[in-house]
Amino acid sequence: MTKFAIGVDLGGTYTKLALIDTSGRISRRAKLSTTAYKTRGELVSAIVSEVKAVLEKTHLSPNALLGVGIGVPGLVDFDRGLVYTLTNVPGWKNTPLKGILEAKLKVPVLVDNDVNVMTLGECRFGAGKGAKNLVCITLGTGVGGGIMIDGRLYRGCTFSAGEVGHMPLKEEGLSCNCGGYGCLERYVGNRYIVEEIRGKIRGGSPTAIKGLVNGDLSAITPEVISKAALKGDRLSIDFWNTVGKRIGVTLAGIVNLLNPERIIIGGGVAEAGEPLFKSIRKTVHERALPVPKKAVKILKARLGNEAGVIGAAALFFNPKG
Ligand SMILES: [Zn+2]
Repeated sequence: MTKFAIGVDLGGTYTKLALIDTSGRISRRAKLSTTAYKTRGELVSAIVSEVKAVLEKTHLSPNALLGVGIGVPGLVDFDRGLVYTLTNVPGWKNTPLKGILEAKLKVPVLVDNDVNVMTLGECRFGAGKGAKNLVCITLGTGVGGGIMIDGRLYRGCTFSAGEVGHMPLKEEGLSCNCGGYGCLERYVGNRYIVEEIRGKIRGGSPTAIKGLVNGDLSAITPEVISKAALKGDRLSIDFWNTVGKRIGVTLAGIVNLLNPERIIIGGGVAEAGEPLFKSIRKTVHERALPVPKKAVKILKARLGNEAGVIGAAALFFNPKG
């Protein structure tokens, strides 16, 4: 019998659900607006109703459902299914989410951090398929990471492993919102890189970017900078070289430390594509040790917006957890 799990991707803006089979196929989806619910209790009730609705519509036999996996944007005690805090979703401090959902749904529930869940999804069904040792990083407003060692997620002793964005890049550096300074995120986070290039344009650097956004510098995104780079715009090419170098230096350290088979890069900034990846690969090649650097492949994430729901369901598909 084909087995299924429901994956829930609880995000700051939307909460997405999907019914997924053990080969990663999505057969049903639902989407809620996270911000439409005023309290934690209301959002949990809405998730419970959606899960029940999916099960009713699909007439799934109860023993075909392995459970409900849920990925959340924050720090989670995976063993207890306890959410410590969520970033950008207020009112979730110390929520025993696994216990609450299991009592209401009467099926097994697993709760994990969203980047861990994405890592698991990419490893089972995306760019990491077939690999047992990999590191996944997300380049967005924040920079996150997940680590798989021998086919298992490595969560660390307090479930906070994988914070690639807060690996110090500079001994002395700009202060970061984590309380530290010189962190990678402070130099490659979406907002910071867009600010940095705006500064260069305002300072008079000639560039094709201005034309691409019709002079509206607030419309600059990583994709725009990439488009300009692909057209041969000097400022944009140099800029991606610099950003890729910062990421590559950090990844060279990760390659030397963990010897992964693959490094998978996702998130909005990864949409910059080849101009960025070329610079990252070049830097890793220049800076990492000869043996591990030959073994590692640096790839773009493949599951895109589906990574959250697929990975959350995959919490039930991974025999070793
Ligand atoms: Zn930091």
